[in-house]
Amino acid sequence: MFPGCDAPPGWCDAHHVIEYADDGQTVIVNLVLLCRHHHGIVHRTGWTMHLNHPKLPTRPAA
Ligand SMILES: [Zn+2]
Repeated sequence: MFPGCDAPPGWCDAHHVIEYADDGQTVIVNLVLLCRHHHGIVHRTGWTMHLNHPKLPTRPAA
């Protein structure tokens, strides 16, 4: 979920943390739920995010 957003999961889209275009997989450990509004903001404004869990994927160094 986006910080401060309280949209219920049923109103949300799955967002790839590592973007599909960057070879991010469509697997549960690479997806977060974002409401339609915040999903658009993330894509339009260049937000980046990462997952803190050690067994979850991280973006490879550029
Ligand atoms: Zn939201």
